[in-house]
Amino acid sequence: MPEGIEIEYYRREAEKTIARTIVAVEANDHYYLKGQTTTERLQKALVGKQLLKSRRIGKLLLLDVDGGDALGLRFGMTGRIIVDDVAVIESLEYSSKRNNPAWDRFIIKFYGGGSMHIRDPRRLGGVELNPNVSEFGYDLYAITGRELFGVLAGSSRPIKARLMDQSEVAGLGNLLTDEILWRASIDPRRPADSLDQKERRRLYSHFTKTITELTSQGGSHTGNLQDHRVHGGLCPRHGIPLERYRIGGRTTYSCPEHQKR
Ligand SMILES: [Zn+2]
Repeated sequence: MPEGIEIEYYRREAEKTIARTIVAVEANDHYYLKGQTTTERLQKALVGKQLLKSRRIGKLLLLDVDGGDALGLRFGMTGRIIVDDVAVIESLEYSSKRNNPAWDRFIIKFYGGGSMHIRDPRRLGGVELNPNVSEFGYDLYAITGRELFGVLAGSSRPIKARLMDQSEVAGLGNLLTDEILWRASIDPRRPADSLDQKERRRLYSHFTKTITELTSQGGSHTGNLQDHRVHGGLCPRHGIPLERYRIGGRTTYSCPEHQKR
C-alpha cells in the first residue's frame, strides 16, 4: 500500500505534466469523486488550464491548477499514477500485479498526446477539488524533532498508533512505522508519552534516516524488517522470533530482545 514515500514518487512523476495544457478530463466513476466534486466541476476547473505545481501533504497529492483550484488525489491501498503510459511504481504490494486499464478511475489528457492516469483496482482512493488540508499533521519529510516530541507528549496511546495518526504525523503507514520503531529499539505498544529524552532523540534520528534511506532505495517496503514480516520471521539483528500482534487493527512486528516494553 502506498505510504508517504510512494506518494512522494507520485508527486515527482506528476511534475512532468507541469505547464502542459489539459485538453480533456475523464472522470466517469462517480464513486471516485469525493466531497463536492463532480465530473462537470472537474472539467470546468481543468480543461484548457495548466498544472502549475505538484505538492504533497502526507499521502495526499495536490496539483495546483492555473485559475486557483487545487486537484487533490488520494491513492488508498492500491492507487498508482501513470504519466505518459509509464508507471513510476510498476506494482504495489497487496495489490493485483495485473495492469488493467479498466481500473483507470481518472484520466487527464494533455495537448500533444500525453496523459495522466490514476489506476486503482480497489477504488479506495479518490479525486477531490480543493480538499480540506487542515486535517493533516506534520508531513513525514518536514517534521522537526521538537514537533515530533510534541506529538509524543500529547498522548498515552501506543506509540505506533500515535505515529500513524494522520492528523498528527502525515504520511506514515504500517511498514514505515514498524521499520522506524524497530531501528530505534522502541516497542510499538509503549505509551507515546512514556519515552525519555534519550529515546525521543533516538526515535527522531532513526525517523529521518529511515525516510531518507528508504526514499533513495525504492520505497516503504525496502526496510531491513520487511522480509521478516512473516509468520515465524526472525529479527534480522538477533535471529530470534519476532513478536506479531495488532495495534489499531494493523499487523505489527517487533523484536522482544531489543524493543523492550
Ligand atoms: Zn532484535
